[in-house]
Amino acid sequence: MRLLFHACCGPCLAAPARALAAEGYDVLAYWYNPNVQPYREYRRRLGAFRELVAREGWRAEVEDRYDVEYFLRDVVGSREGRCPRCYFERLSRAAARAAAEGCDAFTTTLLISRHQDHDAVLEAGARAAAAAGVDFLPRDFRPLEAESHEVARRMGLYLQGYCGCIYSEEERYRRREKAEPGGARSGAG
Ligand code: SF4
Repeated sequence: MRLLFHACCGPCLAAPARALAAEGYDVLAYWYNPNVQPYREYRRRLGAFRELVAREGWRAEVEDRYDVEYFLRDVVGSREGRCPRCYFERLSRAAARAAAEGCDAFTTTLLISRHQDHDAVLEAGARAAAAAGVDFLPRDFRPLEAESHEVARRMGLYLQGYCGCIYSEEERYRRREKAEPGGARSGAG
């Protein structure tokens, strides 16, 4: 079965893609993440994705679009409810690409993270699949998260410290400030 695998980053792709390839899936790795800001961070994550697929010998398609205006327009005024929109935007593009590439199905590394809303990712994937006329593979990759990141560490890949958008970049420091009152400002730069 031909499977397009949307990757939010290289470290989250490593173990799940290896697992699905071992199950017999013909994996096509796919990058489309206009949610990652700022630009330097975007380039670092895309670089880690490219390095991983090159080292593993996986086929890959990259939509290299730093679409910050588009992303912000989509989520502005909806900071609290932004993540389901962000999932759907990326998975809609992945589903359409899967159909265009003749894949039978698609899935996403967003299903590996304990920090994401797993049910909302599943819902966005199912909606995107229905619109594009391809199947969505609804796997729970969360048990592979630690292993996947360990693979990335051993390879020396860049591992990011926040989800992607400028809101999440702020929130990681806010969380630290709450955990360490008075001690986080120096760490925030
Ligand atoms: S926190 Fe992550 S999933 Fe949510 S909108 Fe920002 S980049 Fe997208």
